[in-house]
Amino acid sequence: MANQSARGIHVLDKPFTCHVCGGAAFFQREVKLQTTGMTFFDLDWLNRSADGAVCASCGYVHLFAGDAHAWR
Ligand SMILES: [Zn+2]
Repeated sequence: MANQSARGIHVLDKPFTCHVCGGAAFFQREVKLQTTGMTFFDLDWLNRSADGAVCASCGYVHLFAGDAHAWR
């Protein structure tokens, strides 16, 4: 598990800031996307893990399920 110092994030090559407080430092945390029943709807891809970015200032958790973001 990642448990390191806070880092910045770029999304599509642009600096990412917290949606709540505007902070620019985040802790990385893997987040399981538990979507019971989604298999029935053929949405298994939603059951993958997401990359969680926990704001170092306010604790708000942002989730990234794709590859558009990069830790710096
Ligand atoms: Zn924040």
